[in-house]
Amino acid sequence: MYQYSTSHGLSTLVTHIGEDDNPYHAHVTPIYQTSTFNFADVATGTGIVARSSPGYYYTRLGNPNLEHLASKIAILEGLDLVRGQPQAKPEDVVAGQVFTSGMAAITAVLFSRLKAGDTVVAQEAVYSATFTFLREIAASLGVKVAWVRDLSQDGWEKAFEDHPDSRLAYAETPANPTMAVVDLKMVAELAHRRGAWLAVDNTFASPYCQRPLSLGADIVMHSTTKFLSGHGALTGGAVVSSHPEYIHKSLYTYVKVLGGIPSPFDAWLAHLGLKTFELRMQRHCENALQVARFLSTHPAVERVYYPGLEDDPGHEIALRQMHAFGGILSFELKGGMQAGIRLMERVRLATLAVSLGNVDTLIEHPASMTHGPVPPQDRLSQGITDGLVRLAVGIENLPDILSDLEQGLS
Ligand code: PLP
Repeated sequence: MYQYSTSHGLSTLVTHIGEDDNPYHAHVTPIYQTSTFNFADVATGTGIVARSSPGYYYTRLGNPNLEHLASKIAILEGLDLVRGQPQAKPEDVVAGQVFTSGMAAITAVLFSRLKAGDTVVAQEAVYSATFTFLREIAASLGVKVAWVRDLSQDGWEKAFEDHPDSRLAYAETPANPTMAVVDLKMVAELAHRRGAWLAVDNTFASPYCQRPLSLGADIVMHSTTKFLSGHGALTGGAVVSSHPEYIHKSLYTYVKVLGGIPSPFDAWLAHLGLKTFELRMQRHCENALQVARFLSTHPAVERVYYPGLEDDPGHEIALRQMHAFGGILSFELKGGMQAGIRLMERVRLATLAVSLGNVDTLIEHPASMTHGPVPPQDRLSQGITDGLVRLAVGIENLPDILSDLEQGLS
């Protein structure tokens, strides 16, 4: 039987935690593909429903596969905090909840932390659906947004000074698709000084590269569709917080009523993907750094955006807050949008598709695809030019990725 230790590494923890916790000791956790759970008798049922005794009764309100996945993602994101308090049980330090998609996770956080009259200080250049929620739906609910375009300390400080009663700060770093980097420690300090929380979308970095909770963030959100599950076979989301009572009480109320939970099968599939998370991330990051270096010296390329490059504007902050620089980069070609379209149609190994974090390399055009729903003037002010190409580098063999790009650019 596995003996948990805070000194164990990422792969050891995600491979072993909770694995033997099933009645028949199945080697791989079974799939509890059920909507409801039987009660032994009325008294037991009443206790489970009241949450005064352990157990499950309805999958939207709790299921072993969902909890298993949530606790593993919580351990990944909270690793530094858990190691910092070895005398406490991990579940007292960090907690998580899983969702049917990244957007279900993000919107549940925004609904649970903001009410009419509140202000959120938010980075302007974020994933398109998050931007749409903040720009259109938040306004219709009476929530004000103080946009931050200048991501330096001055930019965030000004937004907080103009809106001193803000309840929440929202950041996504590196950002999709501009790869802009936000100094999370700095934003967390500014937010906490005014009693606000910091929520961070950590989808692009993943907890392999960056753990925002140890930099002061209060809530971390994920699209588990991406690196955490890793194979492009499902959509999913997760929320992790260093305030376990927020997950179990406040957010749980929104889970109950919004109902955006994943199926037990999707949770199980994501959990299976997690077992190779560290290995996959090592390769994604190594490959992406080499691809970024290759593109940055290629005569057809105007500019590469990747925080691992020494001349990238986010490099210095990334060195401080990231363990590695991630598997995604974007770039502009000298021939602009037409050259980008030519490349996307000529590649033979990379697949022309949105999404990212899959084992295979994906290439896409943000202005017409992922960020097509964002109005053109907003796209431009966020730094998403028409010529920008986004590459989610896979774990294929590096020479094959490089020669595909070379032939596509030549
Ligand atoms: N956050 C980021 C940074 C993303 O790139 C995406 C999707 O691409 C999402 C959130 C939304 O995730 P999902 O598609 O799982 O809802």
